[in-house]
Amino acid sequence: MPSISINIKSGTLQNKDYILGIDLGTTNSLVAVMDGDQAEPKALKGKGQHVIVPSLIHFGPEGQVIVGEAAKPFIVDHPERTVYSVKRLMGKSYGDLGSHSDYFGYKIIDEQDDSLVKIKIDDRFYTPIELSSLILKELKNRAEQELGGSVSKAVITVPAYFNDAQRQATRDAGKLAGLEVLRIVNEPTAASLAYGLGLDREQDHHVAVYDLGGGTFDVSILRISNGIFEVLSTHGDTYLGGDDFDRAVVEHWLGQIPQGVELSNSETQALRLKAEEAKKALSKADLSESSLEIQGQQYHFSLSKAEFNQLIAPILQRTLDACARALKDSELKLEEIDSAVLVGGSTRSEAVKEAVAGFFKHSELNDSLNPDEVVALGAAIEADILAGNRKDILLLDVTPLSLGIETLGGLMDTIIPRNSKVPNRVGKEYTTSVDGQVNMKISVYQGERELVSENRKLAEFTLQGIPAMPAGMPKIQVNFMLNADGILQVQATELRSGVKQHIEVKPQYGLTDEEVERMLLDSITHAESDVKTRMVVEAKTEAEQILYVTERFIAKNKNLLSDQEIQSTSLLLNDLKNSLESNDKDIILGHIDELNEYTRPFAERLMDRSVSEALKGKSIDS
Ligand code: AMP
Repeated sequence: MPSISINIKSGTLQNKDYILGIDLGTTNSLVAVMDGDQAEPKALKGKGQHVIVPSLIHFGPEGQVIVGEAAKPFIVDHPERTVYSVKRLMGKSYGDLGSHSDYFGYKIIDEQDDSLVKIKIDDRFYTPIELSSLILKELKNRAEQELGGSVSKAVITVPAYFNDAQRQATRDAGKLAGLEVLRIVNEPTAASLAYGLGLDREQDHHVAVYDLGGGTFDVSILRISNGIFEVLSTHGDTYLGGDDFDRAVVEHWLGQIPQGVELSNSETQALRLKAEEAKKALSKADLSESSLEIQGQQYHFSLSKAEFNQLIAPILQRTLDACARALKDSELKLEEIDSAVLVGGSTRSEAVKEAVAGFFKHSELNDSLNPDEVVALGAAIEADILAGNRKDILLLDVTPLSLGIETLGGLMDTIIPRNSKVPNRVGKEYTTSVDGQVNMKISVYQGERELVSENRKLAEFTLQGIPAMPAGMPKIQVNFMLNADGILQVQATELRSGVKQHIEVKPQYGLTDEEVERMLLDSITHAESDVKTRMVVEAKTEAEQILYVTERFIAKNKNLLSDQEIQSTSLLLNDLKNSLESNDKDIILGHIDELNEYTRPFAERLMDRSVSEALKGKSIDS
């Protein structure tokens, strides 16, 4: 794999190769790149007719693979060998698909467990990652044909609601297609970038991105501030889209055919295509006229814009309900949304535009770009930023690995979990474990393992000058601040005295993608043994604290205890000390319980004495 050289200061790439912006869609995919002369992003078609590549893969009987437009006829003729909507399967198990598993015309293997789905074509099994990689390869080929050279780097977009498994699957598909995936970008982020939203770092924006495609709908509310895109909320329906408009028109027309006339499969399919044509025509005209021969008889079908709008009103309402939910979750007021961006072919319908403009009534409507291309164009802009061609802009979204500090027993205490958005600020309170402790070492680590020794150390500093207090009394606030450039600042403050110390760490660029990947894989492989080790370490830490407290108690309060009690306690203390060697959490916890059980009455005795002395004191005072 070619290496990326990153300028640590600017976070940009040093070389100026083409970096592709790819919209890997459910129905259609596109590739775009920054056009050098125009400084504008441009969708590429290679030797194809159109920039749009239908996300379809057909496997011929001789093993030939056909991707895109040429695979379209096979959906009807050979549905079992033609894969569509593979994006819906990315990072999913059969169980995840639930009632939607019969939506697909090809064979999805049900292994009745939680493993990821596979698709069976003839005797071969394909993972959604392999299938997506075939689409990505087609896009890469197109780009290479048009750019006249090989390309190896890309930015790929995913829906904002994609989870980590789905994002990782997309990244892997890119790798399999021979692409180094520099960034996985949220589709609404890319769409906003295509309209230039967020390119001016001075301006803050709240953007609603409304994406209505053929079969999926989602709306996301973003806050863009200082070049940082934050997805505040996202809602939608992964089975709602322009296909539902077509279905509503078909139903309407079927109502005009005399009862008893049965349509063949191919007639139903043809009527659906006529409905889609009529819908598209109505985006420009007020009336659409068409005709179709059904069972030997010619039928005339007309559709006015008013009729169409009425038919799709309930579907549109569902999208607006999702907008209302997204707005509520974003905790913004309607008037705070200053831009709305339209994405997806179905937003070409006037009724859709009007509905969105009506809902986000305080926003400027961004609909001037081709809604099919918006996401890919934005991805190309992001790629351009990563290539270092736009100074001052740095788009960061999430931190790839957890950040935390070492606590007692060498355990990792995570402060900013992996995948947290950037910038981020999290604080946590700690205390001392020894009486009179005046220094506290803060060691900062990055990684997913339970023990810091398995993670990567980023920095270390000592908070000095903590006023001497009993163990557990000082309140030490540790703040992690991860800024937009991926630079972590750690600050420790003792809250009672105000003593403060701080350090700056640069965690993000220290690791290559492969290292991040290895660390994540390690954390999965070792998850079980890590948990066991953590439990032993926790038991030992608890034992050490109890030993410390009990020894101090005996030394200070001899007069409360009989000789016999002192002797028995010291035997129990010894047993507990010896058990630490066993590295067996149950043995250690067993001895802790015995010691606790035996010494509990001592503490009660001490409390009784303190209370009676206090009461005595009171009665003297009063
Ligand atoms: P996408 O999944 O974003 O490619 O969107 C495809 C959907 O957009 C399909 O349902 C198309 O029928 C629909 N579409 C394409 N062109 C138009 C148009 N001019 N007017 C209305 N819908 C359209």
